Amino acid sequence: MTQEYATRYPLLLVPGLLGFVRVLIYPYWFGVVKPLERGGARVFPVMVSGVNSTEIRGEQLLLVIEQVMRDTGASKVNLIGHSQGALTVRYVAARRPDLVASVTSVAGPNHGSELADFLERRFPAGTPGGRVVNAIIGLMDWLIRIFETGYRGPRLPTDITASHQSLTTTGVALFNRRYPQGLPATWGGDGEELVDGVRYYSWSGILTPGRTNRGLNLIDGSNIVCRLFARTFIKERGQCDGMVGRFSSRLGKVIGDDFPLDHFDSVNQMIGLVGKGARPVQLFLEHAARLKAAGL
Ligand code: CA
Repeated sequence: MTQEYATRYPLLLVPGLLGFVRVLIYPYWFGVVKPLERGGARVFPVMVSGVNSTEIRGEQLLLVIEQVMRDTGASKVNLIGHSQGALTVRYVAARRPDLVASVTSVAGPNHGSELADFLERRFPAGTPGGRVVNAIIGLMDWLIRIFETGYRGPRLPTDITASHQSLTTTGVALFNRRYPQGLPATWGGDGEELVDGVRYYSWSGILTPGRTNRGLNLIDGSNIVCRLFARTFIKERGQCDGMVGRFSSRLGKVIGDDFPLDHFDSVNQMIGLVGKGARPVQLFLEHAARLKAAGL
């Protein structure tokens, strides 16, 4: 076994909204974990509430981190969060920087999701439309819980309203006021790479006609979903991955914000079906090598 991805601290992978470790045999981080492990990395795909506020998820993640530290003897961890998982790891790093070597945001709505804004505008809470949206999310959350096979632990609470408020531009702006670590000072800029001893990194993709809608994404329905969702974007129209805008995603050292990846491609979904020329797993491997080189 090579040691090219043998980071000093374990890698914790934190999923986004409706996240999971494994549904039946299907992993959230599809094809990501094994190649990292083959390069010597210690990798932990972890579970937090699939549908809840960033703060609640973050408090749950703190407990998981303490458990991983006990199990491995590590004094810190590297946190990689996808989508709302990025906000979740930012919360933890802000509260307990002593436990965190690095924060990496993958397609994270670090300034909010315009899709969440659209849903709030179009289907406000308490209206029939809002109730339908909540029912769909509640049903998906329930199904994921039933078929989750990668998580063993106490039942994690669900709060659909809090989850939604954690993802809107307004909600994330409130969050950012309390937890600004790593955010760019100007829209579209880079953030500070090192804050309170924690390294901050980010990457994300955008829908790229001729690439993300080609290749194996031609047979991946989740790409069509992203293309439909992208129509709800106003500020970052044509510059989003279907759920998150490229500038909204920027945090710390920006590795890239325009890879040809839709929001699901970023974690190699579904079942590794990605667009033409996309190599999402390679981004994780390169990043592990980057963390290792930085002594993390
Ligand atoms: Ca895909």
